[in-house]
Amino acid sequence: MATVGIIPGDGIGPEITEATVRVLSAAAPYLSYEYIPVGHLIPGGEHDPLPDAAVAGIRRLGAALKAPLEAPRRTGRIVKVRPDGDRVYPSINNAVRRELDLFANVRPIHSVPGISSGPDLDFLIVREVSEGTYSGIEYRIGDDVAQAVKVVTRAAWERIAHFSFRLAVEQGYGRVILGHKANVLNLTDGLELEVVQDVARQYPEVELKDMMVDALGQAIVRGAVPRAVVLLDNQYGDILSDVAAGVTGSIGLGPGANFGESVAVFEACHGAAPDIAGTGRANPVGLILSGAMMLCHLGDAAAADAVEAAVETALRSVRTPDLGGTATTSDVADAVVEAVRAAAPSPARA
Ligand code: NAD
Repeated sequence: MATVGIIPGDGIGPEITEATVRVLSAAAPYLSYEYIPVGHLIPGGEHDPLPDAAVAGIRRLGAALKAPLEAPRRTGRIVKVRPDGDRVYPSINNAVRRELDLFANVRPIHSVPGISSGPDLDFLIVREVSEGTYSGIEYRIGDDVAQAVKVVTRAAWERIAHFSFRLAVEQGYGRVILGHKANVLNLTDGLELEVVQDVARQYPEVELKDMMVDALGQAIVRGAVPRAVVLLDNQYGDILSDVAAGVTGSIGLGPGANFGESVAVFEACHGAAPDIAGTGRANPVGLILSGAMMLCHLGDAAAADAVEAAVETALRSVRTPDLGGTATTSDVADAVVEAVRAAAPSPARA
């Protein structure tokens, strides 16, 4: 019996969480769940959006499924007061990652057969999420000037580069593509490139290619990115993973995971979609597939494969409006649960 954390999130979060927990319960009935409320919209008036107890709870469990959290524009900064100096985070989602020392956001980009009219994509985005332009260092100088600091450190890039090359070896990608802008951001992106080239020498079996990030975006949309681990900094990874998920058919399809040394938090690519919250139109597939990534991380690759195959089966006939269908979030969950059960009618999964 393993217990995982559940952050039900905001907007469409609770609906897609419910759908995902139903699927996980069918595929991995031994799992139990500890609900951990986090976010600006937790009911109850004045509160800390990321209580220390929530961070400690996720650390203790080691793995959590997180639905998207709304981050208010311009006012969503979170300050954690610490004896050794306050920590400032630009948003709740950034705060969750950084309080838990999660540094690698992994987003598999795979076209689902029959869903997208666009090119077939098959690569894995690794996004460095501990620093970069989202470090929370911004200044307003008077009324008319504002600055943001892009932080790049050798230590963080050695860590993310090793993570990416190891993943390329373990998952048989054989290639890492670094997207950067070292021709303009000579010192910051230049340091990223230098460190990744240094680390690459320790992995002679993996090819390293580097591309300007704007050209890489264009290659994603044209389907010209080969099978690879695509390594990006915090902001480029944020943007290009949504672009890539969109090319595969819908932003609602993209799964993801955040890894630290001893904690992992699994979350879909998309945000809280407040525009469709409560309408039953939310596509739960991104979070369901994030749940499959969590099962794999917990060591149950068979259950993870069962969920992925069940999603593919369900999507042949049951699609939410973002994919041109009329099904509800709950219809998709029903169809995936049915496909999981049909594929593995053993007593353990029945
Ligand atoms: P969004 O991803 O929430 O929505 C963009 C568009 O995609 C909307 O039209 C939405 O309806 C649609 N969409 C998103 N997910 C969908 C799904 N599963 N099924 C069907 N349609 C879906 O991006 P946004 O509108 O820029 O952000 C809304 C809120 O979410 C903001 O507060 C933002 O800060 C937050 N956000 C959170 C995360 C996270 O928790 N990791 C990530 C991105 C944005």
